[in-house]
Amino acid sequence: MLLGSHLSIRNGYLAAARRAENIGADCYQYFPKNPRSLTVKSFDQKDAETCAAFCKKHKIISVAHTTYPTNLAAIDPEVRTATLHSLRNDLDIVEACGSIGLIVHFGKHKGSDPIEGYKLMIELLNQCLKDWTGSAQILIENNAGQGVRMGTTFEEIVQIRKLTDYPEKIGFCLDTCHAFASGLWSGDNWADVEKKGLGLELGYFEQLKVIHLNDSVYGTQSYRDRHANIGKGEVGEQAFREFLSSPAIRWIPLVLETPEFNSYSHQDEINYIRIKLKNKSD
Ligand SMILES: [Zn+2]
Ligand SMILES: [Zn+2]
Repeated sequence: MLLGSHLSIRNGYLAAARRAENIGADCYQYFPKNPRSLTVKSFDQKDAETCAAFCKKHKIISVAHTTYPTNLAAIDPEVRTATLHSLRNDLDIVEACGSIGLIVHFGKHKGSDPIEGYKLMIELLNQCLKDWTGSAQILIENNAGQGVRMGTTFEEIVQIRKLTDYPEKIGFCLDTCHAFASGLWSGDNWADVEKKGLGLELGYFEQLKVIHLNDSVYGTQSYRDRHANIGKGEVGEQAFREFLSSPAIRWIPLVLETPEFNSYSHQDEINYIRIKLKNKSD
């Protein structure tokens, strides 16, 4: 099992990698820049390269998450241009830090025609990846379905990737809270979910590169996106035990995006998962 958490880059990219090592994480996620804006960041190349070397040496896997305002299905042309520049900037940082990919949520289309939303997404992905020669991939994350139901099914995610001009530059990120909230995973149907995703036409798990390991504050089919600590939410311990023993997700980095408290840190949660939820043989 490869397990870690989201970490702050407050003290730079290398500091985040060091923190991962300190808390005993095998992997971690970070925001390449200020998560609240699309503003392009001129980053410290040296810091990023030292981070990449550190991770390589300590066998730590890192992955980045796009900023909150990033929406692949945005309509406004100015917002789309800003989003494109922000994504390319993120990819440059991610590549310099030696990370495996850049996670971006499946688009949310505000218009009435969902097909238009898919088209907007494909167009932006093509623009972004056209001249991209790095090894980091764009990793599309499933939505919880809050507000807009787009991007909650394996079918949509697999199809969007196939319909772009650069499927080889795109992989997936599965958020377990979103999968539960959207009804994709009810908590007791993992075997069916796995079978479906492994199906030949879909091949979802072949492209799955990272998992956001989150419990959910709200129930399945609530379409509400609120993360809870593992085993303390509506998904619960038993469902996570089954999930974590699934062969389809073996050796895929698991990243916690759960609330942290003084009394319960990500390090505590990592230990809890390793000791209580997973066979020690792994
Ligand atoms: Zn997530
Ligand atoms: Zn979420």
